[in-house]
Amino acid sequence: MKTTRFNLFTLASALILLLQGCSITSHPTVQSSLGKPSSSAEMERLLDQPGPIQLETINSSDWAVPLSGLVNLKSPAAIKAGLKDRDEPIQVYAHLLHHPQRGNYLVDTGVSKKLVDDPRKAGLSWLVTKVLPVKNMQLKKDTAEILKGIDGKLSGVFFTHLHLDHISGMPDISNEVPLYIGPQEATEKYSLNVFVQGSNDRLLANKQPLQVWNFQPDPQHKFEGIVDIFEDGSAFAISVPGHTPGSVAYLIRTTKGPLLLTGDTSHTRWGWENTVEPGDYTQDGERNLANLKRLKALVANHPNIEVRFGHQR
Ligand SMILES: [Zn+2]
Repeated sequence: MKTTRFNLFTLASALILLLQGCSITSHPTVQSSLGKPSSSAEMERLLDQPGPIQLETINSSDWAVPLSGLVNLKSPAAIKAGLKDRDEPIQVYAHLLHHPQRGNYLVDTGVSKKLVDDPRKAGLSWLVTKVLPVKNMQLKKDTAEILKGIDGKLSGVFFTHLHLDHISGMPDISNEVPLYIGPQEATEKYSLNVFVQGSNDRLLANKQPLQVWNFQPDPQHKFEGIVDIFEDGSAFAISVPGHTPGSVAYLIRTTKGPLLLTGDTSHTRWGWENTVEPGDYTQDGERNLANLKRLKALVANHPNIEVRFGHQR
């Protein structure tokens, strides 16, 4: 009798927790000390001029995940194209950004070898390792190896969002490195976060508080917010919520021309080219699609922008 009561209590508590949801991490957040609010007019005025930044996109790991997570297979375009669920090859990237005066930054983190070798020891829960088979990741260049290649220290990490495959390099990032995210990314509650918060908290344990970009409404209403990261017009964070509550895209003015990092607003080339939002991995598909269209409109107006998707080239 006692056991039954205990089990019912546990089940009820678990159900309440699931209904209420929780944030993707309980790691502390603060307002960003870097960057100032900007506008799409300011960004578009500058972006076609070559900039000072060098950016290298590194494939940290090959992986394969269900296509239904990456593309909304119920969208009319996916149905018309006859797309069916299957394992889709993807890559997990880190983007190494070098600013001549401000130093070295990463956009997302790639994958740490520690995480692939022993996911449980790196902090992942048993459940997360079952749902996301990190053991199947084929490491190409792990985060420690990527960091060995930089001249000087790492000055910060700009996250597109806090899904596991974007913070999977954290075991190799030292505790002093500043971290930057979008608004509500670490605070908005969502039912499925119940399963990932513990793993994310352990990956972020002892790291710096998450600094939140100071997005303000875009005077031209083209985006939900734009931040001029170094206050010199060389790199912009663009607020594109939908995939997650605080998803961020980055527009970088490199020495070779403008470059757009979409993050998981579009995981795949097919999704970008057919204007189809991601599938099951996305929290708010409608808002994701609206922001995907905004990014595509930006590129249509500035065709020399090179676009790099969340998980494919
Ligand atoms: Zn994601």
